[in-house]
Amino acid sequence: MPDRAPQPVDRPLPTDEARELISLVRDIAQHEIAPKAAEEEDAGHFPREVFRLLSESGLLGLPYDSEYGGGDQPYEVYLQVLEELAAARLTVGLGVSVHTLSCHAVAHFGTKQQQVEHLPAMLGGGLLGAYCLSEATSGSDAASLRTRAVRDEQGGDWRITGTKSWITHGGIADFYTVMARTGEEGPRGITAFLVPGDAAGLSGALPERKMGMKGSPTAQVHFDGVRVPDARRIGEEGQGFAIALAALDSGRLGIAACAIGLAQSALDEALAYASGRRQFGRPISDFEGLRFMLADMATQIEAGRALYLAAARLRDAGRPFAKQAAMAKLHCTDTAMKVTTDAVQVLGGYGYTADFPAERYMREAKALQIVEGTNQIQRMVIARHLAGPESH
Ligand SMILES: Cc1cc2nc3c(=O)[nH]c(=O)nc-3n(C[C@H](O)[C@H](O)[C@H](O)COP(=O)(O)OP(=O)(O)OC[C@H]3O[C@@H](n4cnc5c(N)ncnc54)[C@H](O)[C@@H]3O)c2cc1C
Repeated sequence: MPDRAPQPVDRPLPTDEARELISLVRDIAQHEIAPKAAEEEDAGHFPREVFRLLSESGLLGLPYDSEYGGGDQPYEVYLQVLEELAAARLTVGLGVSVHTLSCHAVAHFGTKQQQVEHLPAMLGGGLLGAYCLSEATSGSDAASLRTRAVRDEQGGDWRITGTKSWITHGGIADFYTVMARTGEEGPRGITAFLVPGDAAGLSGALPERKMGMKGSPTAQVHFDGVRVPDARRIGEEGQGFAIALAALDSGRLGIAACAIGLAQSALDEALAYASGRRQFGRPISDFEGLRFMLADMATQIEAGRALYLAAARLRDAGRPFAKQAAMAKLHCTDTAMKVTTDAVQVLGGYGYTADFPAERYMREAKALQIVEGTNQIQRMVIARHLAGPESH
């Protein structure tokens, strides 16, 4: 039925290298990711082989220093790569974003020795990371987390005990960036650790049975007295919550870019369908009721892309960007929810079936309004910034 092929997004990119990168990503997305997306999501299959390919292609460490195996790319470029990956399959785009998030602590707060020792494998050595902040009783109120790290009797190694919840790549990751309590209650008693996935006492539960993104494993991770040398403590004792939040400022931009990729795919699907489907003797795309809906979808997507890119350019310029990152996450994920819902509407009854991807996009969009700080929490962050520095 659809007879309108989607047009690639026109991206004004800063360098030839960035243009080559986007064309490489489009090639991988088109040939290796998109063709299997629907079937594998249905089966709950995580495409580990795709992440190996992305790592071999230099796409798992793009915004980090090339000295440690990263790609030296500005966020402006990295985020557009994410958008392209998420447009092909959200499980992959979100997975790359979470992996990048899990490398942030070592890359920005690790010692030189830690960076030399760990980053090359994390950024380009085929490893996959996970970021462990949330717990069953501490989601939005992450600073109330209970997982404990205590020094062993000799005062050297740490023992981590507790359960993290909702961990993307939980149980399959090669390394875990873990926030654990080492001191007082509240944000100042938390410390960050880099824990290998095969550490004794670490185990993943069965993945949650989610509404969407079934191919992306989200699971509890249990730490049963996991021994971690002090050399794997990232930053100072008590600095872990600040480290976690710094990573999330950047991570939220990744979620925003993924949301726009997902929304773009839903719009492409709706446009293709509307140009092929005929009712009342005409393509339904002739009807103003649908044309205006499609125009609104396209406008919200363009606005979202502009917003996340503006925040990325602030970050690339070394300027504060936390408020804009929260705005981008809020706007882009709300846009993804609205656009995917409208895409189902454009497809009518067919949109409500699994024969077309629109319903999957809609289910997947919902997760993006929740992860890395719900959209209520983004509004709190934005409002705090509006109220001025003394309210932080
Ligand atoms: C698919 C998926 C993947 C995830 N991946 C990870 C991961 O890799 N690592 C990780 O650490 N976590 C991860 N999470 C967890 C995610 O970050 C939390 O679900 C999220 O922070 C919300 O926490 P919660 O689910 O406990 O909800 P709660 O905090 O209990 O919130 C419930 C509701 O109350 C609202 N609310 C709470 N406090 C306020 C307030 N002060 N004002 C207004 N409204 C409020 C929330 O917005 C929400 O609507 C993931 C979650 C999902 C669904």
